[in-house]
Amino acid sequence: MIVIKFGGTSVGDAERVANAIDIVAERRHLQPIVVVSALSGVTDDLVAATNAARDGDGERVNEIIDRIRQRHEDVAMRLVQQKFDFFDTFVRRLDKQVEEIHTILRGVTLLHEVTARARDKILSIGEKLSSVLFAYSMMMRSLPGEHVESEDVIWTNDNFGGATPRMDLTAEAARKTLLPIVERNHIPVMGGFIGRTVDGATTTLGRNGSDYSAAIVGAAVGAEEVQIWTDVDGLLTCDPRFVPAARVIDHLSHEEAAELASFGAKLHPRTLEPAIEAGIPVRVLNTQNPASPGTLITREGPSQTSGPRSVARKRNVTLVHMTTNKMLGAHGFLARLFHVFEELKISVDLIATSEVSVTVTVDEQHDIDELQRRLRDLASVEIIDGQCIIAIVGRNLLRDARVGARVFEALRDVPMQMLSLGRSGLNLSIVIDDAASDRAIQRIHHALFEQAVAV
Ligand code: ASP
Ligand code: MG
Repeated sequence: MIVIKFGGTSVGDAERVANAIDIVAERRHLQPIVVVSALSGVTDDLVAATNAARDGDGERVNEIIDRIRQRHEDVAMRLVQQKFDFFDTFVRRLDKQVEEIHTILRGVTLLHEVTARARDKILSIGEKLSSVLFAYSMMMRSLPGEHVESEDVIWTNDNFGGATPRMDLTAEAARKTLLPIVERNHIPVMGGFIGRTVDGATTTLGRNGSDYSAAIVGAAVGAEEVQIWTDVDGLLTCDPRFVPAARVIDHLSHEEAAELASFGAKLHPRTLEPAIEAGIPVRVLNTQNPASPGTLITREGPSQTSGPRSVARKRNVTLVHMTTNKMLGAHGFLARLFHVFEELKISVDLIATSEVSVTVTVDEQHDIDELQRRLRDLASVEIIDGQCIIAIVGRNLLRDARVGARVFEALRDVPMQMLSLGRSGLNLSIVIDDAASDRAIQRIHHALFEQAVAV
């Protein structure tokens, strides 16, 4: 058994749905379970419809819901292949769902208020519609898809908007609902993102939660692999928009992937944790380029490799330098400094310290003026805007001194503001002026990944 998950862009229109169905068909012998996101943009539309309902704008609600309905019908219509009975049943189901969402939204309009519970019910419609559409589209193309309600599979707590699965109940429910279908040699199709509480309320797992659903289902049924089908070739050695020579990383550990995710990798490996913890490999693949092998993420990663895997950049960073001789031999000083950050709810990314100074990076969007005002009572403060973090991610980065040597050589004329080696050699982060960062990232990538001699 494998889990195949398609993101919103992979099911965005008829052509893409057809393409996704081909991908499932080619993997039929692997006993797939299909998890789909809402059609691209639909969840955002549902958020807009909810807000319009709350503001009493019934016209806008109708306009949005009509558009959503039409998109689903159009996809199905374009995929009909003489199987008009499937098409008719699909349209009846579509209308029933649309009627249900109108009822909830009317309630919101009347009350001028939307509860977290109602919001989840509304947002879940995107995946309900896409999964029913996908299952019927499979049948219209002679592939035995069977729609399964996600609420019958994934049980969660009642933290609406970001629910956590209850794995014990989910494992039991998933086996009970999915395995008989697989045993019949049919293909279960369910929406991602959705769960239910023990008292039957619909929950969602948080925005972009469909990957999470796929990982939960994979862990629950003990799948051999969880495949995340998206619109990129996998995780890359660098952002290809800035470094054309960037290439796909074939295999990396969960830790390395998670480290990359914090620098904005398209995929969030934290949400894959249930599968990876259960020892189930996760593969990231491209629906537009199915022949490419993608990126494999496993708990341990490839055995015995160390060294750099990717170079990433985080922009819009501000550096805060705090200097004081009160730190010399004193205790409790750092706690007082960081208490200020806590009070202002400013999260700190990187930290470097010396005997008399502490330097940290924070996101530019915070209230830096207020931070500076409060810190001044404790230390002398210097703020440097317009910085960025360049992170080299990989295992045991400094085991081979040539890695550091190459990075520093690449940055020979770019002044470094700060340096930090986090998580036992997993992430070498360098803060530099953002204006110099295109050049820096290209040079580092070249030095580490494009030269003939492997590091
Ligand atoms: N449709 C949901 C969202 O847009 C979940 C997902 O796509 O993963 O957030
Ligand atoms: Mg998504």
